[in-house]
Amino acid sequence: MKKILLLLIFLPLISFGQTKLHSQIDQNASALEPKVIEWRRDFHQHPELGNKEFRTAKIVADHLRSLGMEVTENVAVTGVVGVLRGGKPGPMVALRADMDALPVAERNDLPFRSVNTGTYNGQETGIMHACGHDSHVAILMGVAEVLARMKNQLEGSVKFIFQPAEEGIYEPGVTTFGAKQMVEEGVMTDVDAIFGLHIWASIEAGKIGYRSGPFLAAVDNLEVSITGTQAHGASPWSGIDPIVTSAQAILGLQTILSRNVNIAENPAVVTIGAIHGGIRHNIIPEKVEMIGTIRTFGDEQQALVHRRINEIITNIAESAGAKADVKIGKLYPSTINPPELTTKMTPSMAAAAGASNVIAMDPVTGAEDFSFFQREKPGFFIFLGGMKKGGDPLTTPSHHTPDFVIDESGFVLGVRVMSYFVVDYMGEKK
Ligand SMILES: [Zn+2]
Ligand SMILES: [Zn+2]
Repeated sequence: MKKILLLLIFLPLISFGQTKLHSQIDQNASALEPKVIEWRRDFHQHPELGNKEFRTAKIVADHLRSLGMEVTENVAVTGVVGVLRGGKPGPMVALRADMDALPVAERNDLPFRSVNTGTYNGQETGIMHACGHDSHVAILMGVAEVLARMKNQLEGSVKFIFQPAEEGIYEPGVTTFGAKQMVEEGVMTDVDAIFGLHIWASIEAGKIGYRSGPFLAAVDNLEVSITGTQAHGASPWSGIDPIVTSAQAILGLQTILSRNVNIAENPAVVTIGAIHGGIRHNIIPEKVEMIGTIRTFGDEQQALVHRRINEIITNIAESAGAKADVKIGKLYPSTINPPELTTKMTPSMAAAAGASNVIAMDPVTGAEDFSFFQREKPGFFIFLGGMKKGGDPLTTPSHHTPDFVIDESGFVLGVRVMSYFVVDYMGEKK
């Protein structure tokens, strides 16, 4: 009953013209499904680390060129941008896929298991598409083919953005993200709106997850050092103990989340992941160093959490007579789906997946560099189900682990919904 009601709400928002385009998309997408899966398996077997996606980028560029697109290569190191000019005037709609893999050694017996190894931060490692970006590339190549076949009917143009290094580059002296660098190279200047998806291992294939407003977290790095005065462990009164001060500071940080953040609105996380100080049981050291991660949703909350971290650590140290040095490094901004665009695109998701398969999600404390595109132009980001039907989201291997697997039966929905976003957005803009 609920399903029928939801359909009744969504269907009138999709015009007859759109419905016709949708059925063409459906036909083309179904015909392409085996090819999309084949592409994905090839990328899966040959994964490449961030800013080293040479083979992947070449396959993507050749494909886009074969579809008659204007193609630019080596954008933000290894990125590829293709533009499909529609037959009629209208907006420039961008679609994005990330291409990079991770330093993880794959652990399964799939026939298309990764054969690549490499060096990461000076360490020999296996390389694996352990976040599922192989499926993003394959799906977007499918979308490119579907829309290229319909290009005379398109009321606007489509920019296909295949970006490197979503997982970030963390080399000595260099911290950067593929999307950030693409934005800096001007990829968003002529874009009106952008859409992206992430395959998600804990959502069943055939379903779509999304959230209006803050969806994924901002990630910031925290580095703290607390300096006291070294002393004999037997006479602490003769020094200033940075270990006890650090312990107070760590507990103090937890009050940010329980006392300062409006948790009814959005969650936040402050985690200290490492603490180093001291060398021997009877020596109070001079210094303690800590590192951690901060997850917030939205600029205002981020500013509040950063301010309180500084105040709490600095003042607790001062109360002990110690000195604190607090450094916060901003990494990813929060991935925020603008409510207006979310409302506009909800009928497209319902039309593609069926309203009961579109799940409004809780905020996710992971991050996505898609947020850099959203800072430039309205952007909408969704999760595409990648768990086998009937799987248990709690026990299914998570992203970034050696056992990570994806059910490919949801790919065709990914191709359809991304294509729907394009034609529906263009249809709305007339
Ligand atoms: Zn990832
Ligand atoms: Zn990812």
